[in-house]
This record gives sequence, structure tokens and C-alpha cells, in this order.
Amino acid sequence: MPTERWKISVRGIVQGVGFRPFVYRLAKERSLTGFVANTSDGVAVEAQGQVARLDDFLSALRDEAPPLAQVGEIVAVPIPLGDEGEFVLLHSTACGPVSTLISPDVAVCDACLAEFFSPADRRFRYPFINCTNCGPRYTIVERIPYDRPHTTMRGFAMCATCRREYDDPGNRRFHAQPNCCPDCGPQLGLVAGSGRLVARRDEALREAILRLAAGEIVAVKGIGGFHLAVDAANAQAVSCLRQRKGREAKPLAVMVADLSAARKICRLEGMEEQALTSQERPIVLAVKKAGHGLAEEVAPECDQFGLMLPYAPLHYLLLQGVVRTLVMTSGNRSEEPICIDNDEAVQRLGGIADCFLIHDRGIHLPCDDSVVGLQAGMLRQIRRSRGFAPKPIGLAETGGMVLGVGAELKNTVCLLKENQAFLSQHIGDLKNLEAYRVFQQSIGQLGALFEISPSLIAHDLHPQYLSSRWAEEQNVVTLGVQHHHAHLAACLAENHQEGPAIGIILDGTGYGSDRTIWGGEVLLGDAGGYQRFSALESLPLPGGDAAVQAPWRTAVSYLHAAYGADLPDLPFMGEHECGVILDMVQKGLNSPLNSSCGRLFDAVAAMCGGRQTIQYEAQAAIELMQVAAWELGKEVFPCEVYEEDAMLKISVRSLIRAVAQAEQSGMAQSEISRRFHGGLIAVFTRVAEEARRREKINTVALSGGVFQNRLLLEGMTSSLGRAGFQVLVHKELPCNDGCISLGQAVIGREALKKR
Ligand code: ZN
Ligand code: ZN
Ligand code: FE
Repeated sequence: MPTERWKISVRGIVQGVGFRPFVYRLAKERSLTGFVANTSDGVAVEAQGQVARLDDFLSALRDEAPPLAQVGEIVAVPIPLGDEGEFVLLHSTACGPVSTLISPDVAVCDACLAEFFSPADRRFRYPFINCTNCGPRYTIVERIPYDRPHTTMRGFAMCATCRREYDDPGNRRFHAQPNCCPDCGPQLGLVAGSGRLVARRDEALREAILRLAAGEIVAVKGIGGFHLAVDAANAQAVSCLRQRKGREAKPLAVMVADLSAARKICRLEGMEEQALTSQERPIVLAVKKAGHGLAEEVAPECDQFGLMLPYAPLHYLLLQGVVRTLVMTSGNRSEEPICIDNDEAVQRLGGIADCFLIHDRGIHLPCDDSVVGLQAGMLRQIRRSRGFAPKPIGLAETGGMVLGVGAELKNTVCLLKENQAFLSQHIGDLKNLEAYRVFQQSIGQLGALFEISPSLIAHDLHPQYLSSRWAEEQNVVTLGVQHHHAHLAACLAENHQEGPAIGIILDGTGYGSDRTIWGGEVLLGDAGGYQRFSALESLPLPGGDAAVQAPWRTAVSYLHAAYGADLPDLPFMGEHECGVILDMVQKGLNSPLNSSCGRLFDAVAAMCGGRQTIQYEAQAAIELMQVAAWELGKEVFPCEVYEEDAMLKISVRSLIRAVAQAEQSGMAQSEISRRFHGGLIAVFTRVAEEARRREKINTVALSGGVFQNRLLLEGMTSSLGRAGFQVLVHKELPCNDGCISLGQAVIGREALKKR
């Protein structure tokens, strides 16, 4: 058997995840000699031994990697033999280019939990227990390389026992940067509403649990920021939280102790249970079960709860108390980013929380809980944030470094480097000053962590967006990208498809290249460009944003478009001052034209007796979908299509007339909803078939926030599938504006190529 020496370099998420000890163990087991070291480029190995063993070693590197590692490229080249007698683990070197990946934050692992619940263990009930396989990462790292002095744990000096674990390659805590114990690590404290510290450590926890049981609102510092916690079974307490937070009706997330508790509250499918227990621990939207025992106020008029399981050790302690189900909603006022700092929390959440369960481990970047839901047979992202960011999305191609600064709402930013896309956590609504600050911080953070300095910044076409203005202020080439083109490009990139494709982009609002509002679009194209093949008719939106808040206004305007001044008499009109709206649209006063699919849902909902004014985004559409009771019927409303301005126009007016007639004939709301959904699916399938006939394109990409409607997504994918199309749907990113930054970035990269 010949002996060889191989130089092996491993890239991917291989630092801070127990990779070197793993390599060390593999080498020892195979009697190899040589060394392993972290480099700024990943992990470097030189291994020497019999070729068969080296081969075996190489495959084990990939196949048996530790749970948090994400092994990317492995390159092995033979080099001259060395003469060391054993295999050693070398310490970090920090030089050269950095391409090591920072892992997302990870829920406490089973091994740590076992210690946590074992009275004999020195970390028994210690809320900051972690190891190389679990714990905070992205939210505590300030810069690279990922070493303790570069994290918010920098102020805690390890005790001798912790230090031994940290230095021992055979230990689960070898180089676990946040490693600590009750003697040397962070501690809990309870701060009263006045800002005074009233209890420490275990006593702080006991006091917080008692206060939760008494119906108080407790702000709890977690991994990515503060939650506002309240007993989910206490209707009065939940109402009080809603009132103080200024959140009237939008469903609140609930944390329960374990899977069996979750099963009592929701009907869970296998995939949903997997997501609940996954190391990312997202909020999972699942269908409510009768007799769930939670206060109605948690998710009023909604058929689902947003459930999650504990992920920080502290959560386990809280749920062991008297209260077994906790509302855990982001610690912010509506639309602000989640609060991360102790003093800031007392200031910003002072009017909401009765007290604050804090600790002294700093959070460097805010990171909301992620949200996923089962749609069209797969778990899909609704908000991609903690647990997922900054895990890269793999791209089919490589290219220049580009930054996409995202949309105005549900903002994320995205940096491209080689064949990877690094997306930030969910940042939120940039009109909010705090969010704008986090936006800038996140761009800086991602750029620094992954050593990316973009040669182009892609932004939304809308000139007034803060992100567009920020982009223009940088000393870098910029590119304006149409919102729905970005949706299409994001869906293609995520699916590793080059296109061209037929993009059916059903959305709320996006700035069109003709300066009107778009949102019900069929675009043909790819990252290199697009053609607006078809769209919903553009109709006036009386009062602009005011109409978004009041679907009845849109309904009146659309009825006017369909019937002229002689409106049919529908019950909903009796409730409103329709004359004012008619006047506005007739005179064209403050009534921008729009082709939004979201507004069409609003109009139909209002017309058939659904939501007239909304309390949270898309509420009217969500409730309209829910009454359709999960099934589409055979009968659908007819929807005409006609040629105008060199494109196919989809007649919103014909749909509105069909809905009005059905409403007048006394058809049930659930049936109207079904036929409306069916009508949309039929007409967009027809338009796609026409596009295929003319342009010989057989791939359809679905994107836009309206596809969070599971009835529409499922109906559309199966209808297009039956028509023989290849259908692309988002998998790792949300279909809503959370995906825009990726779309912008890949379009920007394509533009760079042509320079
Ligand atoms: Zn662990
Ligand atoms: Zn210690
Ligand atoms: Fe959008």
C-alpha cells in the first residue's frame, strides 16, 4: 500500500462549528499523521498515510461533518511526504482573504439540554449554556475572524474550568466562542417598569414567572432581541398587550413547551413538526385545533396560530413555570425593528411591558424570529430571519460582487460573492428610522463578515425609497431595478434557472417603469431584461395609500370602472360615503392608476361583505381566502383578456361585474371567493399559454406577496402543471418583498457583465 501526503482545503461553514476537532478525530481513527488548522480561507489539512485511508478520510470529511458545518468545496492535492509522528490540531492564523462563513444562531442542542436539566451538572439551569453545536452566532459576532474577542462575549473572561473545555480538542466546547458557566458568564436580572433592577439570577427568573402568571407583560431578552411575553390563555392580558403595542388584530406568535403541547393547539403535519423542532426554530403557521385553550385574542378571525418551540435555554425555564403557553411577540412598537439593548428596551418598551427580564450578554444585530408555513406541499418562508441569516443561498453561476438594497417594506439586503448570495435578516419597513439604521448596520456587517465590497449597488426604481437614496449616496455604480422584474429574477436565481421564463408576479405594490403602480404582472424575461407581456387593467386607487387601508374605497372605484356612474346597488355600499369616492375617481383627484393584484383582492373582499377597512397588511385578502374553506370549485368567474398598447390586458372589470352579479343574486361569500380564486387561476393560466404560443417559453416563475395565499398558490401550480408548464416557486426565500434584494443583485450582476 503506497503512502502519500495530501494537502486538503475545506471551505464553507467550517469555523466555530467543531470542525477541527472532527478532522482531528477522523485522522486519529485512520492513523494518519499531519495537521489541521483554521485559516482565513476555511480549514486547511495536511494528512499523510495509506492512500485507501486517505480516500476514506476525504469522503468522511464531507459525509460525517458535524451538525452545524456546511461543507462547501473540498480540494485535495498530493504534496511531498512530511516526517511528523502524529496528527496535531493547530491554532488559528489570520491572514489572507477570508471566505469562512459565519453560522446563523442555533437552538440549544440536545447534549446541552441534557446537562441543563441535570442537577449534578455545573450548568444545571444555567440560561446561557451552549457548545460548538449550538448557541448564538450571527447576532453576537462583531467582526471576523470568529473569535471570542470579536463577539459580545468579549467582556467575560472564562474561568479555569471553562478554559480547559475551550482548549481541549476532545471537548464539545473546544473553541466554542460563547462558552461560559454560572461562575464566569452572563446572568439574568429583572428590571421593574421604573428601570430599577429588582432581582438577579434565579430570583429574577422566579419573579418573571410569577408576574407572567399574574397576567403581566414581561419583556424577555432572547437571542435576536426582546420578546414581549404574556400568558396566551389569559384573554385580558393578551388584549392589554395588543392595546399597548398598538396592534389591533394581527396574529401574535405563541411559544409552547414541546411538540406534544403544540399538537394540542394545532393540527400538525409531519413537515410542520419537523420545522418546529429544527435547529432554526422558526414560527410555524399551522391550523388551529378546536379546544386549543388559548385566548381568542391571540389570533382573532384567523384559522391558524403561529407556533414555536423554545430555542434559548431561558425559554425552557420560562415554560417550566406556571404558564405553559406564552405569547412571544417581537419587542417593538408596530413596524419598528426588534429591541436589542437593555436600556433601549426600558425606553422603547416602557409603555408596553410591566417589567424586563434582561441579561448582560450583548446582542450585536437585531434578528426577528423567522416565519414559515406549509403551502403547496412544502414549507415556505414567510419571514427569513433568525436561524437562517446569514446562511448563503447557492447560485448556479459566479460573477462580480453586487449589493441589492431591497424593497421599502419587508426589507432585506443581499450581497453576492462568487456563487453565493448572502441575505440579511428581515429588516422591516425602512420608513421607520430605527429600521433604516439597522439597514445600514446590516450592509456594513454582511460586507465585513464576508469581505465583500460591491462594484455595483442595485436598488428599486422608486426614486423616493430611502434605500434608493442611500444607494445613490454611495460612491459606487448604481442600477435601478423594476420591482416585479426583481421578483422574477429572484425566483429564477433561487431555482438555479437561467430563464427566460414567464413570470407571473402577483403583488401588492411596485413602482412601474411607466411611473404607475404595478402589481398584477406577467413579465417575460430573465436577469438580463424583461418585457411586460400582460397585466391586470390599471384602475384608479382613490386616495392612494388610504385605499390600501380601506378596501371599500377600491371596491367603489373598481365598480365605477366596470359600470360607469350607474353603480349596481350592493349591500356594502350602504355603510360608506361612496359619493366622495365617486367624485374623486371621476375627477381623477389623488387617484393613481394601479394594476395591483392585492388591491383586486381587497375590492372583491369588500364587495361580498368581507373586510371593509383593514387592521394589518393583507387582512381582507387573508380573510377572503379563509372563507373559501380550502377548496376550489369547478365553477369560476369569467375574466376577459384583450390586446391594448402592445400587451395583453386582463379585464379586472369583467371579474368585478361577475362578483357584483353573484353578490346581487345572493351567492354565499365562500362560493364567491372560490369562483374568484378560480377565475384568477384560469385567466393567468390562459395568458401563460398565450405567452408560450408566441414566445416558445415553457417555464413559469411565480412570485409576489399575493402567493402567500395558499389557495391561490396551490391552484396556480396545479393548473399550470396540468397545462404542461415547468413551474418555479420560491423555496428558501419568501415570495414577498423579502426576496427583492436577491433579484436586484442578480440583475445587477448581469448588468456588470455587459460593462
Ligand atoms: Zn450545545
Ligand atoms: Zn466558567
Ligand atoms: Fe413585491
